[in-house]
Amino acid sequence: MNRDFYSKLIFEHSHPGRQGYSLPRNAFAHVELPAGLTRQGALDLPEVDEPTVVRHYTNSSNNNFGVDTGFYPLGSCTMKYNPKINEEIAADPVMARLHPLQPASTCQGALEIYYTLQQALSEIGGMSEFTLNPFAGAHGELTGLMTIHAYHDSREDWGRTKVIVPDSAHGTNPASAAVCGYQIIEVKSLADGTVDVADLKSKLSDEVAAVMMTNPNTVGMFEKSIPEIAEAVHACGALLYYDGANLNPMLGVARPGDMGFDVMHINLHKTFSTPHGGGGPGSGPIGVRKGLEQFLPNPRVVKLADGTFDVVCEESALGRVSMWLGNFTVEMRALAYIMSLGSEGLMKVGPLAALNANYIMHHLRDLYLLPIEGPCKHEFVFDGLIDKSTGVTTLNVAKRLLDFGFHAPTIYFPLLFHESLMIEPTETETKETLDRFIEVMRQIAVEAKENPELVNSAPHNTPIAHPDDTEAALHPVVTYKEL
Ligand SMILES: *Cc1c(COP(=O)(O)O)cnc(C)c1O
Repeated sequence: MNRDFYSKLIFEHSHPGRQGYSLPRNAFAHVELPAGLTRQGALDLPEVDEPTVVRHYTNSSNNNFGVDTGFYPLGSCTMKYNPKINEEIAADPVMARLHPLQPASTCQGALEIYYTLQQALSEIGGMSEFTLNPFAGAHGELTGLMTIHAYHDSREDWGRTKVIVPDSAHGTNPASAAVCGYQIIEVKSLADGTVDVADLKSKLSDEVAAVMMTNPNTVGMFEKSIPEIAEAVHACGALLYYDGANLNPMLGVARPGDMGFDVMHINLHKTFSTPHGGGGPGSGPIGVRKGLEQFLPNPRVVKLADGTFDVVCEESALGRVSMWLGNFTVEMRALAYIMSLGSEGLMKVGPLAALNANYIMHHLRDLYLLPIEGPCKHEFVFDGLIDKSTGVTTLNVAKRLLDFGFHAPTIYFPLLFHESLMIEPTETETKETLDRFIEVMRQIAVEAKENPELVNSAPHNTPIAHPDDTEAALHPVVTYKEL
């Protein structure tokens, strides 16, 4: 590939007078436009020939890394392969051309898809009812917390101003609670990665509105004390929130509702087959247990007694949290995924994801530091290389992986360890891919000993190698400047 060629912007390929198109003859050339409406100067567009345009965009697209190009073991993100049939279904013009304001009688099929997915998620989560309105996991968290707020309000229980969040939680948990107006109380994790139940209990009071938990938690450990926690949380009048962004390991194995959770969200764009990363599109449906349905946001899709579907707004609901009914194409993909796997297929997802994660963990733990003993669920965390004398950090290992065509795992999260390297292979990878990844990770560990400079100066064969992270964060250049 020609580096010089494809590192240019399309404007930099421009030559005055060069054309890659021919417009039809202007049939309105004789029409005089008022002077105020006509362009004063030349239109500043790139002037490029067709092959240059095609090469420019083809090369640009090849610079993109995704699940479709390679292994993407990004912990806490569930970057699994998304079957192409779901894309085809989501792109169906009959569905794509629907208008959200169409009368319900003219889009019964779409409403049935919506309703069926609500039902399927309720069954999967062990909840009474789901809304598909929120657009992302964090948006679901906020909606869930607003639902909890509305519940306490309805009981005139005004004094609950705090939300308890474990220190291992995804950053969106405390952020959503803060956006919802709550003060955050942090709970410690034990050495085995699970929540310190004694610490949690000591922080419960009639000022606590909710406790947010992730299970399996962000280090891939199953929280075994949920029934005990649920009992204590409920005894103090608070509700238990389940962060189900990564429901993958639980699919077909266990249901949050059965464990005592009151409100939960699911990331359809992680567990239920929508390509994600780069900011969207997403969908973060939330579910509630029996007795909380009336606090869900509007609008709702309901099935009427005559078997038809309708969109309704209820008096006592939270109000709206989004335009229309959410990200419908993401919802279509999710339902296609659920229905094509069926309950039998779904029941294999969690166990296979856990098997793959444990397989990698087992084959690397003699070289990478495993701070929390397994077995893990869908993901696990190394605290960098065991041999700290080489000076090779988790960041260096992650960058060296790029040279071998792998996306880096999640690094420096969770914050429980200094050199966190969080690996989640998902259930969709073959043994050959896992073996190749293990081989490369082992090779990097050997290189760290024998030639640390090779690892520390990586990556060596990516289009961009060493951007200044701090400069990029502080002074991002997001507009095109004439050089
Ligand atoms: C991804 C994730 C979220 C947030 O989801 P977004 O769609 O990115 O807002 C929340 N919690 C956990 C555990 C996650 O992995």
